[in-house]
Amino acid sequence: MRVPLRHSALLLLIATLAAGCVQTYGGRRALILIPNSQEMQLGEQAFKEVNTKEKQCTNAQANALLQDIGRRIAAVSSQPTWKWQFHLFDSPTTMNAFALPGGKVGVYSGLLGPAGTAAGLAAVIGHEVAHAIQRHGAERVSRAMIVDAGLKAADVSLSNGAYHDKIMAAMGMGANVGLMLPYSRDMELEADRLGLLFMARAGYDPAHAVAFWQRFGKATAGQKTPELLSTHPANQRRIDGLKAALPEAQRVYAASARLGAGMALTVPNCAANVFGSAPTTAAPAATPAPSRAAAPRGPSAPAGTKVSRPGH
Ligand SMILES: [Zn+2]
Repeated sequence: MRVPLRHSALLLLIATLAAGCVQTYGGRRALILIPNSQEMQLGEQAFKEVNTKEKQCTNAQANALLQDIGRRIAAVSSQPTWKWQFHLFDSPTTMNAFALPGGKVGVYSGLLGPAGTAAGLAAVIGHEVAHAIQRHGAERVSRAMIVDAGLKAADVSLSNGAYHDKIMAAMGMGANVGLMLPYSRDMELEADRLGLLFMARAGYDPAHAVAFWQRFGKATAGQKTPELLSTHPANQRRIDGLKAALPEAQRVYAASARLGAGMALTVPNCAANVFGSAPTTAAPAATPAPSRAAAPRGPSAPAGTKVSRPGH
């Protein structure tokens, strides 16, 4: 038996979903129910909150490296004209990074140890840039709107106390509000794949993305795993996905300026300009790529280290 009211509600829902379906870079259809202007506003507000709460790392060398890698990757991404910003936050015990709509990327200083090399950091930045370009934050907010009938488009504002934490978590700021809401496995694998291409185009050896995730897995092994990790791609699945995407990325890398692995990194001292070590490869375009197996191992995570996957 047909129930007209329910039927029309269903049609309305289908119409809404169809209207909100957008094509993202790479051809995937994504359901995004908030307008781009609102998405950008949420990104601005979320960044203001994080920036108020966290301390920026003032280590000049570490910042210069982050700016250099960020600029190179943004320039070869599918959104080179965005006003990209790359911020380094002083938190040696936090292994995390995030990206907000519009192109504000944050990296916590604790992630630079497991990053291991400039190419490892490029893998992190490529992954985060891909999250922003694919509008994964807005897609998560949209999914939350569908799941939570009370969360309507008009309510999607960080000044709305009832939904503040949920929206912050959906934008990737879960660690800052204590509400863990991970990106879906599909989003993570998509960010891995696109990030790999971006880093390769920018001249960083994509093999170091695999090396980074392996180091990150080791650095966080045995730690109390937050609930959010349970819905993430298992480390091996992520490594398998990256390895499958590697041949294409290596072809892209072969045609790039080939910066290789770049400088070896350690967790920077944000209060003093002491950071990293001599470059493992010189930067000139003619320099051949180093061996793929040359990535140094990062240090193990110190006790009390927060273990959340980059991208939260
Ligand atoms: Zn991610």
